[in-house]
Amino acid sequence: MSESETDLHSKIKELEAAVHELEKDLIHDKLTGLKTRAFFEEEARIYFDIAVNAEDRGTRRRQWFGFKNVSFIFFDIDHFKQVNDTYGHDAGDEALKAVADTIRMSVREGDTAARFGGEEIALTLVGATERDAEHKAEDIRRQIENIKFGKYPELKLTISAGVASAEQGSTIEDILKRADKALYNAKGSGRNKVVAYSSIS
Ligand code: GH3
Ligand code: MG
Ligand code: MG
Repeated sequence: MSESETDLHSKIKELEAAVHELEKDLIHDKLTGLKTRAFFEEEARIYFDIAVNAEDRGTRRRQWFGFKNVSFIFFDIDHFKQVNDTYGHDAGDEALKAVADTIRMSVREGDTAARFGGEEIALTLVGATERDAEHKAEDIRRQIENIKFGKYPELKLTISAGVASAEQGSTIEDILKRADKALYNAKGSGRNKVVAYSSIS
């Protein structure tokens, strides 16, 4: 290879590595290691379609995919601004990572935890009814209440959650809006709680 060919070759390798990094960033959130919102939304649409349309496609199709329910949980850390203001942004980042780890370790393989926004985390539970998801959210809520931070002994965290489940005759947009509405209700009715959409609709 000539010198200019070698040069071109290494430039292409560099470009490939950069593209690979960009692809990773599209799927994984750097701070928490959770999936990104873009990934979550794409995947949620697919799972929703399988769960809701499985009935129409007959039993064989449904058995093939193995599930007819899918539920979504939206979590949002309570008074997180205050955590940053009191303990500093680095402590806030650490708290966010601890919440993300707790959620990731609480779900089954095949479920997806994503960082939906700043301190909002969304969860897709494949095969779960609204009731199943409510129990899972409550379990996570309790674990988060009990997280201890060695470096910040005074720091206490709580989280609110909204739950909604895929339903015939609805769209994925409807269902995610329902989870958000349930979360809003959890915030409005005192925080540190789980609200299922069916309980407020
Ligand atoms: P609420 O209980 O109503 O959710 O109150 P809140 O203070 O959590 O809500 P608000 O949306 O007002 O504030 C969210 C805060 O989260 C503001 C922002 O500074 C902080 N935040 C968002 N992303 C990050 C992050 O990556 N790291 C840190 N440290 N803070 C973040
Ligand atoms: Mg928020
Ligand atoms: Mg918040």
